[in-house]
Amino acid sequence: MRGAVSIDGVRKAYGDVVAVDGVSLAVEPGEFLTLLGPSGCGKTTLLRLLAGFERPDEGRLLISGRDVAGVPPHERPVNTVFQHYALFPHRTVAGNVGFGLEARGLPRAEIGERVARALGMVRLEGLGDRGITQLSGGQKQRVALARAVVLEPEVLLLDEPMGALDLKLRKEMQVEVKNLQERLRTTFVFVTHDQEEALIMSDRIAVMNRGRIEQLDRTEILYERPRTRFAAEFLGVKNIYEATVAGGADGHVTLHTTCGLELRAPDGGGYAPGTVACIGIRPERLGLDAPAAAGDTVFEGILDDEIYLGDRTDWRVRVGEEVVTVAEPASRVRERHRGDPVRVSVPPGAVLWLEDR
Ligand code: ATP
Repeated sequence: MRGAVSIDGVRKAYGDVVAVDGVSLAVEPGEFLTLLGPSGCGKTTLLRLLAGFERPDEGRLLISGRDVAGVPPHERPVNTVFQHYALFPHRTVAGNVGFGLEARGLPRAEIGERVARALGMVRLEGLGDRGITQLSGGQKQRVALARAVVLEPEVLLLDEPMGALDLKLRKEMQVEVKNLQERLRTTFVFVTHDQEEALIMSDRIAVMNRGRIEQLDRTEILYERPRTRFAAEFLGVKNIYEATVAGGADGHVTLHTTCGLELRAPDGGGYAPGTVACIGIRPERLGLDAPAAAGDTVFEGILDDEIYLGDRTDWRVRVGEEVVTVAEPASRVRERHRGDPVRVSVPPGAVLWLEDR
């Protein structure tokens, strides 16, 4: 049970604003779980409830099997890493990392040993005597991490810890934090609004929307099979349409989108002819002037716009009244111009059935 987290029917409101609205969630010991969602969806509040900085209005929180109601933050077996480090500026790196151990009254020699080990884990060995003000942003964040892991918490809570770093450093730190978690096997509950960061780091992701968990799944499943429109949009599904089911055969159905596309899709089950459903298609699952496979739906369209993203280009294609976004990896991109006629192919398996809540 050490390292398990159980959140059971938890609600927290600030006046009229319900920040966390009846959330239930179980985190396995040693798991890397991410709370992912847009600003204001309640992820920080949920983390603060776990840390003990806030009290729930309703529900129960268990950490390592123990109910933590009424347990103050410093007595919980958790540690928190914040976006803004919260380091002591007048102490050295080692002084910051060792602070919690000193407060626990551990012998000097043991503190020295554990601090050195923690600094090694975050690749800051040899920097113990540096002043905090002499560090870069990335180094400060490493000190904050070392300070948290040195206390060997049963659960580590991380609130957008890479939020203040530039993109390159952030990418490096994502890999490092993930590696650190794999080595320590400590439970990490991580908060971010960045879907890519969540995908890189997490075992499981809970997508939050308006104080609730919209979908909780293993990372690959969430990516491949978002269940709701909100989760799909948040995870980069750009082509979302309303479509009427028009019967079918052999495990496939035909769909008519409101703007006039006709598509073949695997039978989603339970969609009778005439039902209006919400569907989504990832831009990278579509082909642009590519050889179509048997069973693909193929549209003729006109190129409308180009969004250059470095490693890929998103082409916006007008097909009748509908706009379809098709992603092409940089290795395959060729020069095209607005107004060019193009062919878009849609493999039936690319169509996702979504709940539009
Ligand atoms: P962000 O990424 O912007 O931090 P978040 O998803 O972490 O957003 P929370 O900070 O948990 O969201 O906030 C959830 C809701 O609760 C928001 O509407 C916010 O304005 C409100 N809220 C949070 N803390 C307080 C507070 N101390 N007093 C009043 N309202 C609050």
